[in-house]
Amino acid sequence: LAKDSGRNHHQFYTPELEGRASRMLNQEQLLRQAIALGGFELHYQPLVRTDNSALAGFEALVRWRHPQRGLVSPEEFVPFAESRGLITAIDRWVLRQACSQARAWHALGLPRVPVAVNMSALEFRHHNLAAEVATVLAETGLPPQLLHLELTESTLMQSDVQVQHTLRALQQLGVELAIDDFGTGYSSLAYLKRHPIHQLKIDRSFVNDIAESDDDAAIVKAIVQMAHSLRLHTVAEGVETAAQFDRLRELGCELVQGFHIAPPMAAEEARQWQTKYCHARQAQ
Ligand code: C2E
Ligand code: MG
Ligand code: MG
Ligand code: MG
Repeated sequence: LAKDSGRNHHQFYTPELEGRASRMLNQEQLLRQAIALGGFELHYQPLVRTDNSALAGFEALVRWRHPQRGLVSPEEFVPFAESRGLITAIDRWVLRQACSQARAWHALGLPRVPVAVNMSALEFRHHNLAAEVATVLAETGLPPQLLHLELTESTLMQSDVQVQHTLRALQQLGVELAIDDFGTGYSSLAYLKRHPIHQLKIDRSFVNDIAESDDDAAIVKAIVQMAHSLRLHTVAEGVETAAQFDRLRELGCELVQGFHIAPPMAAEEARQWQTKYCHARQAQ
């Protein structure tokens, strides 16, 4: 702590600060243990098409199996893991696990749909991500077209050549790239023509009130139209009601994801869900 705040500052240790510092240290140790010993699990949330409701893929979402707190949401530990340089190890585990899970489902005869994995912005700069992705695909046997990587707008705003190289190399592998939480980041859209993006995931803050608010519907409509003229696909996140689903279909958004379809589910539950969902659709 004293070191973090710089040499020229005096840092007085109060019991309160000490408590906080030791809690953080403890969190970091627990997180390191989880990385070393496999203390995470993936939940899978389906994406479906708005035109015919067909299953179109899954997003893999990580949870931390915390010894005291149970399953901890990524919102609570991903930023912390990023600040401690631990996110890369976690994302690597997620990547491998998600690819091998998707491959296992396909081998069981379930629909050969893609799996999407979230990647922290840090990955695109400091690591040879494309080579590692190629290795994981080769080792798990998942075809590159069935892996999607989700990145944030802030990743693409880095004008770093390293980021550009990584994205091009991923595209050459055949992996598809999606922009997560689209619309919440920077307002410049220049990066859309600079980078090989395939899909925009419209943030759920625009989806929430889409059935009641003409303004939100207008924003989503504009995003969908722009995406289509750039030959990009659109996904709406956080779809919770039938009314939202219908409105999104009318606006031309191709894919949806959200509690209205299904929540993120543990692997075995997601397998059962797919089986039932596909049978129900065939029976229709
Ligand atoms: P995200 O990628 O935008 O994921 C969507 C989040 O929305 C998930 O939260 C999901 O559970 C939640 N969600 C899905 N449908 C609905 C809905 O209908 N309504 C509402 N209110 N929420 C819905 P989750 O699982 O807590 O993940 C939070 C964020 O953590 C993710 O946002 C993603 O940015 C990050 N994350 C998740 N897994 C990973 C990972 O493996 N690596 C990295 N770097 N980040 C991850
Ligand atoms: Mg995501
Ligand atoms: Mg998102
Ligand atoms: Mg999000």
